[in-house]
Amino acid sequence: MTEAIALPGEQDTLAIVQCGDPVLRRVADPVEPSTLQTPQLRHLIAQMRTTMELAPGVGLAAPQVGLSLQLAVLQDGPPQWAHLSDDERAVREREELPFTVLVNPTMQPIEDDDWISFYEGCLSVPCLTGVVARHRAVRVEALDQDGRPVDRVFSGWAARIVQHEVDHLRGRLYLDHVETRSLSTLDNYASRWAARPTRTAAGSLGFAVDQPTMRDPSSSISRRRS
Ligand SMILES: [Zn+2]
Repeated sequence: MTEAIALPGEQDTLAIVQCGDPVLRRVADPVEPSTLQTPQLRHLIAQMRTTMELAPGVGLAAPQVGLSLQLAVLQDGPPQWAHLSDDERAVREREELPFTVLVNPTMQPIEDDDWISFYEGCLSVPCLTGVVARHRAVRVEALDQDGRPVDRVFSGWAARIVQHEVDHLRGRLYLDHVETRSLSTLDNYASRWAARPTRTAAGSLGFAVDQPTMRDPSSSISRRRS
């Protein structure tokens, strides 16, 4: 973060950048911690929260609103998982994740070989969803919105959200890790795969689960191959 960066205006929500825009492929600039206390950064974080909630989404990274900054917001809970049955929520390990801000995060898997595959999507990649293997748990070191240190383990669906958002800050999209044969329109996902185990889709469409894809060797989070 530098003074040279133009912050968005006063509107409550921000336009979400779509794939093909280079800002989504750039390694984002670190946020200067002293700027976290400024009205501009506080306003930006509030705008990102509103944008995420209305989208709706469970995470939003600053590059998705056109700002190359290492800043992401996350949130999961009953409003976000209302479309899931109790069983579907349980198998996804979706637990309440209060509104969380991560600034300049670094991330390490808790277990290098503990991968879990589910369909996920991205507000910057419209109309599609696909299966991505993510680490079941990750340790994150970051700053929060007040500049205080965060050192926290996220697991289950929260770990998936964190990995997805940290990817955005590294110039990566879920498409870089997706099992390409799993890619599905939202309509086909809803009618065919949403209520079924990921393994059922894997068997029908022909892709692997619970292991990283064989491409994307540049990914630090997917550095092991099985
Ligand atoms: Zn995304």
